[in-house]
Amino acid sequence: MNAEIIAVGSEMLTAGRLDTNSLFITDHLNSFGIEVTAKHVIGDDRARLVMAIQRALGDADLVILSGGLGPTEDDLTRDAVAQAVGCSMSADAGILDAIEQRFRTMNRQMPEINKRQAMVLDGAEILSNDRGTAPGQWRAAGNKFVVMLPGPPSELKSMFRRECLPRLAKIAPPTAIHTEVLRVTGISESYLDQTIAPIYVGRENLETTVLAHDGDLQVRFRAQCATAEAASKLSREMADLAAAALGDHVYSRDESTLETVIGRHLLAAKATLAVAESVTGGGLAARITNVPGSSAYFAGGYVTYSKRMKTEALSVPAALLAEYGAVSPETAKAMAEGARTAAHTDWAISLTGNAGPSTDGDEAKVGTVYIGVAGPDGTEVTHRVWPVGDRDRVRSFAAQAALDLLNRRLRARA
Ligand code: ATP
Repeated sequence: MNAEIIAVGSEMLTAGRLDTNSLFITDHLNSFGIEVTAKHVIGDDRARLVMAIQRALGDADLVILSGGLGPTEDDLTRDAVAQAVGCSMSADAGILDAIEQRFRTMNRQMPEINKRQAMVLDGAEILSNDRGTAPGQWRAAGNKFVVMLPGPPSELKSMFRRECLPRLAKIAPPTAIHTEVLRVTGISESYLDQTIAPIYVGRENLETTVLAHDGDLQVRFRAQCATAEAASKLSREMADLAAAALGDHVYSRDESTLETVIGRHLLAAKATLAVAESVTGGGLAARITNVPGSSAYFAGGYVTYSKRMKTEALSVPAALLAEYGAVSPETAKAMAEGARTAAHTDWAISLTGNAGPSTDGDEAKVGTVYIGVAGPDGTEVTHRVWPVGDRDRVRSFAAQAALDLLNRRLRARA
């Protein structure tokens, strides 16, 4: 079963307004296994609205509209749906009474135009509104359904939960959804997809999505089957095959972030960590301390941006900085070892590089980063170069790569 959602209202086409109602509706429809195949935002124009409703009814089993149920001339949803499905409307005495009553309790007289809100499509079921005046409507159109909901999110949500969920439970086919997630790093999105595409392409009842953010990748296998067992079996089978193909690039299967996985390793080993940052300016420490309880293993960090601070805080020899420069493998090694000694920790990570946009004096070319990881079994330095142009991305990629290197070292000793 599939659905289309139409957000109605010219104000929803302005720069400051976001159609959040459709996100709420989509979430609930998905939990019934109903897939949202298209969303539309249509201004207050009757002809366009009628066309959009007819088109949506041609493509979807369920069409849900939000907004345009108010009392004014530009509230066109009721009229447009009636025209699109070819039915008439009549005033509902009960609704009229309820609206009049609502105005009376506010000590006001109901304006004539509010009568429009009592117009109900022939054959429609009324969806009560406990937060406002405009009732919603639910109407069958052949073997399909059209649903009209009010625009204000608080009214829509309450109505949807009380009135639509029980109706959806009756019309949705029996279905269950299970999603398995792999979190991956150390490879590009295209390499990842090339590796796992042969596993998932052409599989029925399965939707595979790859999300990428600054070197952090997520593969989501969402299976939709008649039973919960079948859905979890299919998504697990896909995730197992993909995990085997991706090897040690997979760092978690329970949606944990890289910093959370590192925290677990450090806690299990009763080990501690410090960081020495130049290029990331504290961004690495920020990620590590995102994890609740990280104080159990994270001692702290040094943001040593100048050469003087590298020498004073981390004991990086001035002569070494003068000879090799601040962005060099030698400096990365000395920073990691200096942080490990100064903070009295088991592990330390260092980052030194040039995120751009320009090179300063003797520094290495833009996009170059050296990462040092010092631990009980020695210090390793890794060199990475990212495409020039986006300072923030170089810094995010660098922090991600540093965490990946530490995680690999910790995993090897676990
Ligand atoms: P009213 O009786 O308040 O006029 P209505 O059903 O006619 O209700 P609209 O006038 O279309 O609804 O929208 C009222 C307000 O609700 C909008 O100004 C906007 O703030 C919010 N709204 C409308 N549609 C959406 C949407 N799709 N997502 C989020 N908010 C919305």
